[in-house]
Amino acid sequence: MTRADAVDQYRSAVKRLAELADEVAAERSHDEVLDALADVRAAVARAYQGRRPRSERGGGAQARILAYLLKHVGEWVSSGEIAAVSGIGEWARRIRELRVEEGYEIEEGGGRYRILTEEPNLARRERWRTVTSIRNGQGSSLERVQKLFEALVGEIVTLEEIYRVAHGIEGAELARQLRKRELLPIETNADAPDLDPGDHRLASLMEWDRLHPSQALFGEDIRRQVFSRDRFICRTCRMGRSTSGTADRAFYLVIRHLDASPDALPGLQAERLTDLARLASWCNRCASKGSA
Ligand SMILES: [Zn+2]
Repeated sequence: MTRADAVDQYRSAVKRLAELADEVAAERSHDEVLDALADVRAAVARAYQGRRPRSERGGGAQARILAYLLKHVGEWVSSGEIAAVSGIGEWARRIRELRVEEGYEIEEGGGRYRILTEEPNLARRERWRTVTSIRNGQGSSLERVQKLFEALVGEIVTLEEIYRVAHGIEGAELARQLRKRELLPIETNADAPDLDPGDHRLASLMEWDRLHPSQALFGEDIRRQVFSRDRFICRTCRMGRSTSGTADRAFYLVIRHLDASPDALPGLQAERLTDLARLASWCNRCASKGSA
């Protein structure tokens, strides 16, 4: 676009805005007025683009977008304005980086964006940095995923975060392997009602909270059926995660077979082993009291 075109755009945008004066007076067409206003702002950004020093290109695009959004905290800004201010084609990616990597609260709606506060969400930024440093660290995919869970013990870890540190290797499968091989009590939404599909959580890092090896006999399907049937409540102490007072001791559910001790489970026939009527939900605390 030439500079003359940009100035023409500015003229017609201002004209359009002026034409809406009667609508403003009558408190009508609010959205249309806001759109016209956004067009004026986009035209201003385009008209002054040539004044930007060339060295600012590329790396400076994110900073320009941020500066522009911060000038309009709480206000919707059109994608046309952001494209014009940034001067690059990949501005949407820069917004995503500001949100995900830098922790800025930027809302999106109908092709418009608004920044909610001047200050970024520091916890979210810190979280991104933790995940990134593990992603860039040593070890196999499985070891990095284990590090991720250990760094965020007790917190919800998203499937996206697992994939990031695993460099794209099937994240849910790696979490299952850690349950099976390392006996880490990693919950999914089969185990805990507060988790969404894809969410995972390492309930505890304590040695005494490792799963009994026989828990590996019960896959996610069976756990989901038994725990949801029992409303995620321990059959012995009648506690659930929300009533367990998790501050001093972790709480998670395990499967208890009514006919055999955990050590004897591998000897059971498959049909009897997975007979839902003979399986019960117990919590880790009751299970470790010796009766399990
Ligand atoms: Zn219990």
